Amino acid sequence: MTKVSDTAIYNRIIGRIKGKIEGPTLLFIGGMHGNEPAGIIALDKVLKDLKCKKDIFKGNVYAIAGNLPALQKGIRYQENDLNRLWIQENLNHIKDGVNDSSNPEFNELKDIYRTIENILEEEKGPFYFFDLHTTSSQTVPFITVNDSLLNRKFTSKYPVPIILGIEEFLEGALLSYTNELGYIAFGFEGGQHENPNAVDNHIAFIYLSLVFCGSISKNEIDFDGYFNHLSDNTRGLQSFYEIFKKYEIKPDEDFIMNPGFTNFQIISNGKHLANSNGKPILAHQNCRVFMPLYQAKGNDGFFLIRRIPKIFLNISKVLRTIHFDRILPLLPGVSWASNKKDELIVNLKIARFFTKKFLHLLGYRSRRIDKNYLRVKNREAASRDSEYENLF
Ligand SMILES: [Zn+2]
Repeated sequence: MTKVSDTAIYNRIIGRIKGKIEGPTLLFIGGMHGNEPAGIIALDKVLKDLKCKKDIFKGNVYAIAGNLPALQKGIRYQENDLNRLWIQENLNHIKDGVNDSSNPEFNELKDIYRTIENILEEEKGPFYFFDLHTTSSQTVPFITVNDSLLNRKFTSKYPVPIILGIEEFLEGALLSYTNELGYIAFGFEGGQHENPNAVDNHIAFIYLSLVFCGSISKNEIDFDGYFNHLSDNTRGLQSFYEIFKKYEIKPDEDFIMNPGFTNFQIISNGKHLANSNGKPILAHQNCRVFMPLYQAKGNDGFFLIRRIPKIFLNISKVLRTIHFDRILPLLPGVSWASNKKDELIVNLKIARFFTKKFLHLLGYRSRRIDKNYLRVKNREAASRDSEYENLF
């Protein structure tokens, strides 16, 4: 595979197209993890190939590089995972001008944050965010997305598996920040880090995204070729999935994933998945394994996922559209967290019907405060649905 240094990427903005016709603004981010250059290589290629089509191009495309020093070193990160730093406290520090120049990832966070802010200020919407990654295990390409109806509708255009609700398990991801702003924003995982196919998958994904956002017409590119490329890679898996378990590795734990698991692999109850301090970790039900960890850095050992039945997706769409959640505070043990009415506080001792499944149906993401209380936030409340109306 082309090394990232071969493409001489040392700038935050690695490419940009300003179309002659008005249109949306797309932000692609590659290399948030420095050991994942495939997205950057693909962006560099697509943007160069499209330079000659400026006259027929609608709106803007920005290709942004993530963790520059880590990319140059070919490592995931130096001190902190840049894709876990996008929490409100850190962003407030940037806004307040608090400087922590001793930490390389905090410097990257600050620079990318300002770059995004500038683009949001200077350009017109609608805005779309795409975060490009690769994984340590072998995988078919897939999408990870915060579960709002807007995100669901847009991502369902791609012929790849879609994983809903990863933000419940990962705090501080760039996408959680952009989703809080209400924009369409999601991640694309193009394949295994070193697999040359990961670059091709990213190229196909970028071209499809340009068409789905209306930046370029289908006829201007080999749309069917790119669509079929992704579709052929993901046959039998094109569906929505939910994560129901994350195995988190403790600070001093000796965790070893058993070799040979591929992403989305079906596993049966009792399957030996990994070892923790020499003791086996077994699956407790039939399901699929997701993102098994085969690299030294990171503390997400593996996730377990299951397919979401279509009926469940449809019911949740209806319940969210009629704002069913607005009657919940009438029930005992449930109250709004503030006047904004986008967050509920639930006393679990009283409101026992508040299961995770029920919350997901209504578009809420759960965060447990303690044994008795749950704080749940509505993903739909921030969604800028009207800005994308009739666009796709
Ligand atoms: Zn990554």
